[in-house]
Parts: sequence; C-alpha cells; structure tokens
Amino acid sequence: MQIINGKAIAQEVKDGLCRKIETLRQQGKRIPKLSVVLIGTHAASATYVRNKERACAAIGMESDTIRLPETITQEELLAQIEQLNEDPMVDGILVQLPLPRQIDERKVLNAIDPGKDVDGFHPVNIGRLLIGEPASVPCTPKGIIRMLEAIGLDDLSGRHAIVIGRSNIVGKPIALLLLAKHATVTIAHSRTADLSALCREADIVIAAVGVPRLVKADWIKEDAVVIDVGINRDENGKLCGDVDFDDVKNVAQALSPVPGGVGPMTIAMLLSNTLAAYEEHEGGR
Ligand code: NDP
Repeated sequence: MQIINGKAIAQEVKDGLCRKIETLRQQGKRIPKLSVVLIGTHAASATYVRNKERACAAIGMESDTIRLPETITQEELLAQIEQLNEDPMVDGILVQLPLPRQIDERKVLNAIDPGKDVDGFHPVNIGRLLIGEPASVPCTPKGIIRMLEAIGLDDLSGRHAIVIGRSNIVGKPIALLLLAKHATVTIAHSRTADLSALCREADIVIAAVGVPRLVKADWIKEDAVVIDVGINRDENGKLCGDVDFDDVKNVAQALSPVPGGVGPMTIAMLLSNTLAAYEEHEGGR
C-alpha cells in the first residue's frame, strides 16, 4: 500500500513557486500578492489565515490580512472588496469563510474580480470549469488532482471514480475535474442509497463528507485509490479523516492520510492560483 504524502507533494509545488518568485525578484519585477480578508475573531479562521500568511512568507510571496470587525455591514465589506479589486498590487483576494450572519456570502463571493478569485468560488470561474475553459479552480479539488498525478494517475479513461459529498467547494468541482480527465464519475451524498456497494465498484474514491472514519475497508475494492478530504475530530478529540485509515490501508492500493494529505495540498494550490493570477495580470498589462 502506498501512502500518498500530500505534505511532500505540496512541498515540491511550493519549492517550484519559490524559485519562480525568486527569479521575479532577481529581475526586479513586482512580487505577487495575496490579500486575505478576515472578519471577526473565529478561532479556526484565525488559524487558517495565519497558516496562509506563513505559507506566502515561506515562498517569498507578498501577503496582507485585512482584519474587519464582526459587526461589519454588507456595504462596508463590499466596499473593501471593491478597493482590493481596484488595487493593481493585489493579485489574489481570499475572503475567509464563514462570514457573520448579517452578510450574504454569495453576494460577497460574487463581488470578487474573477481574475483575482484565487479560491475559484466565483460563478464565472465555476462556469468556466464546467465548460472546460481555463479557470481559477478551487484549491482543494485542484490539490487532489495533483496528488493523483503524483502517483501516475493522469488519464483516467476507463476508471470509475466515486466522490462522496456534493459541496460547492469540494464535491462538485472535484467531480468535474475527474470527468475532465475522462473518469466515469459517480457523485454520492447523504440521500444516496447503498453507498458502500456503490463505493465498492469504484477504482478511485474521494471522501469529502465530514463524518469521522465513515469509509471502511469493506467499502473499498481491492487496489482502489482512496483520497481522504475530511478534517474531523473523533470522539476523543483526535484529528481524523472521513476514511478509517487503519482499516482501509489493508485493501487500498494507495491512500492519503489525515493530517498530511489533502490539507497541505490545499494551501499549495492557493499559492499556485495566486501566482497564476499574477502572471495573467502582468501578461495583460
Ligand atoms: P459539506 O458539509 O459542505 O458537505 C458534505 C457533503 O457530504 C454533503 O454533500 C453531504 O450530503 C454529504 N454527506 C454528509 N453525510 C453523509 C453520509 N453519511 N453519507 C454520504 N454523504 C454524506 O462539507 P465540505 O465539502 O465543505 O467538506 C467535507 C469535509 O472535507 C469536511 O470534513 C471538511 O472539514 C473537509 N475539508 C477539507 C479541506 C482540506 O483542505 N483538506 C478543505 C475543505 C473541506 P448532502 O449534500 O446531501 O447534505
């Protein structure tokens, strides 16, 4: 059984980005910049944002975090986003979710310039992904594809993939990306009947559910590849995925761990999307 080491693959991606930014610096060019908008004092959000700041710093990318009060109004937040849209020094804008109750999340995500939408959540980018045009692709699904490529799964013709979960940020976009790689894709969710039997038919299983250790060994076809997206706490407060790692490792051909799997890939893809947005901006200037 192969453990798909997301941490190591992410490090390779970041090393490549770091070299590109170093070259820009040596050429005296402007350095790519990510602006993160953080609202309120949500502890997990603050940790995610700190990790993003650190990741930018580690590869020499510029970043700043705009911290706004929990009581901010929709209009004030939209005005802030407009300012970032207009700022020629900003390549990527990320609004850390969740947002306070008085804010309409869709309106905020729709207000981000699609060319600076490094999360890939803008309807224009989602639409482009759907019709196969170049787009800013959501970071977690993009990271999963990189992990599959890293173990030699590039063309998925003739393979059956199942995605468990249909969220806009993971399930739906990863299903589209797998389809673009010619896999036959099943999307399962909480209303799916006989999920374990469906899962047993799949060559590739992507678990993006949010239920600790839901996927067991008897759900997995021998030699299937299993990617675990889940970030959960079990009954003892221990970090775990949606896949029962110790059980599934006995049947899968390859399996991604939690932590150290999809998580680090997500941040690496955010940096990659920001550099791609920068290249697009500079190319257009
Ligand atoms: P959501 O809660 O938005 O979606 C979960 C999906 O799983 C829904 O489609 C839901 O179905 C489905 N589902 C829930 N319970 C079951 C079940 N028992 N059987 C089958 N399907 C079920 O979650 P996200 O997509 O945002 O995240 C999924 C997991 O991935 C979470 O653990 C999250 O923390 C993690 N995550 C990890 C990231 C990373 O970087 N590693 C990034 C993003 C998320 P329905 O639609 O019918 O409700």
